[in-house]
Amino acid sequence: MHTVPELFASKVFDDRVMKATLPAKVYNSLRKTIDEGTDLDVGVANAVANAMKDWAVAQGATHYTHWFQPLTGITAEKHDSFISPSPDGGVIMEFSGKELIKGEPDASSFPSGGLRATFEARGYTAWDPTSYAFIKGKTLCIPTAFCAYGGEALDKKTPLLRSMEALNKQALRIIRLFGNDTVKCVKTSVGPEQEYFLIDREMYERRKDLVYTGRTLFGAKSPKGQEMEDHYFGVIKPRVEAYMEDLNRELWKLGILAKTEHNEVAPAQHELAPIYTSTNIATDHNQLTMEVMQKVAARHGLVCLLHEKPFDGVNGSGKHNNWSLATDTGVNLLSPGETPYENAQFLLFLCAVIKAVDDYQDLLRLSVATAGNDHRLGANEAPPAVVSIFLGDELTAILDAIENDAPYNGTGTTLMKLGVSVLPKFPRDNTDRNRTSPFAFTGNKFEFRMLGSSNSIACANMMLNAAVAESLKIYADRLEQAEDFETALHQMIRKTIRDHKRILFNGNGYDDAWIREAARRGLSNYPTTPDCMPHLLDEKNVTMLTSHGVFTEAELKSRCEIMLDNYSKTVIIEANTMVDMARKEILPAVEGYAAELAGAVSAKKAVCSAIACGYETGLVKKLSELTDQIAARADALEAALGDLKGYEGAVAESAAIRDTVLGKMADLRAAADQAETLTAKKYWPFPTYGDLLFGVR
Ligand code: ADP
Ligand code: MG
Repeated sequence: MHTVPELFASKVFDDRVMKATLPAKVYNSLRKTIDEGTDLDVGVANAVANAMKDWAVAQGATHYTHWFQPLTGITAEKHDSFISPSPDGGVIMEFSGKELIKGEPDASSFPSGGLRATFEARGYTAWDPTSYAFIKGKTLCIPTAFCAYGGEALDKKTPLLRSMEALNKQALRIIRLFGNDTVKCVKTSVGPEQEYFLIDREMYERRKDLVYTGRTLFGAKSPKGQEMEDHYFGVIKPRVEAYMEDLNRELWKLGILAKTEHNEVAPAQHELAPIYTSTNIATDHNQLTMEVMQKVAARHGLVCLLHEKPFDGVNGSGKHNNWSLATDTGVNLLSPGETPYENAQFLLFLCAVIKAVDDYQDLLRLSVATAGNDHRLGANEAPPAVVSIFLGDELTAILDAIENDAPYNGTGTTLMKLGVSVLPKFPRDNTDRNRTSPFAFTGNKFEFRMLGSSNSIACANMMLNAAVAESLKIYADRLEQAEDFETALHQMIRKTIRDHKRILFNGNGYDDAWIREAARRGLSNYPTTPDCMPHLLDEKNVTMLTSHGVFTEAELKSRCEIMLDNYSKTVIIEANTMVDMARKEILPAVEGYAAELAGAVSAKKAVCSAIACGYETGLVKKLSELTDQIAARADALEAALGDLKGYEGAVAESAAIRDTVLGKMADLRAAADQAETLTAKKYWPFPTYGDLLFGVR
């Protein structure tokens, strides 16, 4: 048994391995590529590839793959073995620099939203040296970006890397203005808290809805749900504990900093949080975490559900994206400092985020939009679909004081003059931390809480990085021209607060009153994916994202199309699954029970015709009404699906699906769930909510 430090990153070709296996010159050259993005020459690439292969083969690897993140939202890989024929009829294990740097999977079936029709059918993968290679099973996985031949991104990593670069560029301009010439780069860091459900595999397999769609499409509430709040942080059951232990070890081997685990609010719901790291790596690690979670579950006779809303009536699962930006010298730019200058810099970065979130509410909302997440946002368990920022009372009071040139209680100084007065100390982790806010400041980072549990965090972070880069650019453009830096700074911070305070909200985000108030403030509210996604192509968004080089216009068009198409397909699969389950499982079951009851009535009447059989006949009548209803509603749903022809484009089609299909799905479910409550247990064709939610012990 290895100790954790021995185990940690044992499957990763990380800095320690590179140092140990590469000649010093090669190592230094590679390091420069990783840290500064310089080009890698062929000789170095060959040496790195060879060392990687030797290391991987020594660990039992036989294959390599370019591991990438296409727009399907999951990861993709195509394995090639290292074998190469040798003249003596045998094989040797080979891996060249060329194979490391660039791959050409024939991946033409991945969604491209029309991009490849315009350009070139196939895409290529390009090594991302900033994320370490690792071994999964018998395969060396090389993290890569996936692009079309014209250079257009077909994946989630490419725009994420571009957004990090854009933010780095603008943040450096600001830092230079504050007189700092030593900082070389600014990076964003993320710690994503991942929620999930664990259920028994054997029960899972008996439910077509879970198998096909990842969520239950039918199911009456169990007598007990989450109302006692006895699951949250509760004692972890032995089977789950064994799972978590195994999961941690697998994640640690991959160098993933799995840190915190606990039970969540809903029964069978849990959470895993890693220690934060650079956004690019955090994204790769989160994708891997989701994959490993499901694999390890299979070993324990369990299934890990990552859907945002697997069960109606109990909480769904999200992902909290804890985000901050820091210099390579280790300064967190969202952490209040000790000196007036540091404070001013902190306030400027804080304002940049406030402005970014207000100006690009729509981009943040749509970055987390999927059919699955639509069930959470706005359902009184997750933040609403309205984006707002929680700052806490102290920081809000400080901003008020700056805005109004008024004294801030406790400063002693009359005015909060930036760069002169010391910022008052305020508690870092304020106790009134607001769990209902979509975007909360938590002392030295922001926690973006709208992400769904299955979302790739790349989408949210690319939008966030780009929007903040835009604020910083506007600030830098102005400040670089200012005659008096301090006065200009002060004015700009005041202006930001004045112009953007509508986005600040410290109250309860789950409250209906807030939704009304948000409408008065002019904040956008997009409850569904078809509502928000088309705004990706709003002129202001296209201008901003293209000006920072995060996307081209063609890429944005393709993404909008793919996301909406994905929404439509998801709903259609769910609807088809419901019709199928209703007809082939639910109706026969209810019918069978009704027939048994009717048989009992005849039998009893045969004994004595005076027996009333009130219970049985009443129930048979109710069940028959319900079977009629279920059958009719399944027909109606099927008809609605059949009517979905002839819509021009993904926007119109997805909106039509939302408007005509979702309601019919809800109708069918209501009738079936009612039938479930009246049908004898032995007749019900699949595990119930009670079985699923309380079945793992
Ligand atoms: P919570 O109370 O929400 O569970 P924690 O303090 O446990 O908050 O942190 C949650 C996540 O935030 C963890 O993944 C942690 O590593 C991450 N985190 C902490 N500090 C930072 C930071 N400066 N930047 C980004 N993420 C951070
Ligand atoms: Mg949290």
